[in-house]
Amino acid sequence: TDALLDVKELKVYFPVGSGIFRRHSHFVKAVDDISFRVQKGETLGIVGESGCGKSTMGRSILRLIEPTSGSVKFKGHEVTALTKSELRRLRADIQIVFQDPYASLNPQLTIESILGEALSTHQIGNNAKERKEMVAELLNNVGLSPRHAGRYPHEFSGGQRQRIGIARAIAVNPALIIADEPVSALDVSVQAQILNLFQHLKKTYELTYIFIAHDLSVVKHVSDRIGVMYLGKMVELAGKKQLFQKPLHPYTQALMSAIPSLDPDVKKERIILKGDVPSPITPPQGCHFHPRCHYRMEACEHVKPRQIEVEPGHFVSCHLYDTTDNLTEK
Ligand code: SF4
Ligand code: MG
Repeated sequence: TDALLDVKELKVYFPVGSGIFRRHSHFVKAVDDISFRVQKGETLGIVGESGCGKSTMGRSILRLIEPTSGSVKFKGHEVTALTKSELRRLRADIQIVFQDPYASLNPQLTIESILGEALSTHQIGNNAKERKEMVAELLNNVGLSPRHAGRYPHEFSGGQRQRIGIARAIAVNPALIIADEPVSALDVSVQAQILNLFQHLKKTYELTYIFIAHDLSVVKHVSDRIGVMYLGKMVELAGKKQLFQKPLHPYTQALMSAIPSLDPDVKKERIILKGDVPSPITPPQGCHFHPRCHYRMEACEHVKPRQIEVEPGHFVSCHLYDTTDNLTEK
């Protein structure tokens, strides 16, 4: 069956420097040749440290940031070829939930107006009375009391504001929601509630999610499949079970070793990565991860790893798993 979203060889490059330096064509390769599919009804988690390009990737899917090249097919339509007005329609079908809903909620408007505006912009509801009822239902469905519809964003807590942000996203009946760090600004105690709300709404509204977070335990909670990003590359992509039972990429292994085990019998050795994330302006040659990798071989310093499907649905970009290039012998 056709995927809801099919991303192929997506690249988002930003020029850096100005004046004469521009001529040297330096680019930040924020998203560097990424391919993946999202099936209807699933949640694809995207995890990686800040600056790895995961937010840029999310935004480029609906062209809030223009892709440099590659293909983004949504419901079979090539998004990169859409005109401005077609793009507007697409933006109802794909919604983003941001990390900080406060920044995207107009402080001058009541919750009722914010949600009502979303509905009327996309011609949902026949009149004001109908929209008022829809707003009440939306608030109910995200766990807020319709009695508070007349309040302003600042009158709500962080978690409640995120519920409002989520209500605004689902108001327009999207097929796909891209949630970009939707709980990372919230208290840990509130995070689980919001994650559960996402799960609940997914069933009620038959949603599909791309769920972006720097925190692997958050992504683990909600995802069916997980993609791991490092410096603009998707270094590993697998089903959640596959990934947690058999993390292949040394970077994934390090991320996982940082999650504390709840089982006292499982002794986990924390893998401490050497050094910091290198600058995306001058990423390391070969495998971007090589300066921090414990398994580094000589070839890793100058040969880019290919993406290999190690078992069905489990992809990794690392020379350790490439049986065709014999780099381990060198
Ligand atoms: Fe480490 Fe080499 Fe694999 Fe990169 S390709 S993750 S440097 S072993
Ligand atoms: Mg981000």
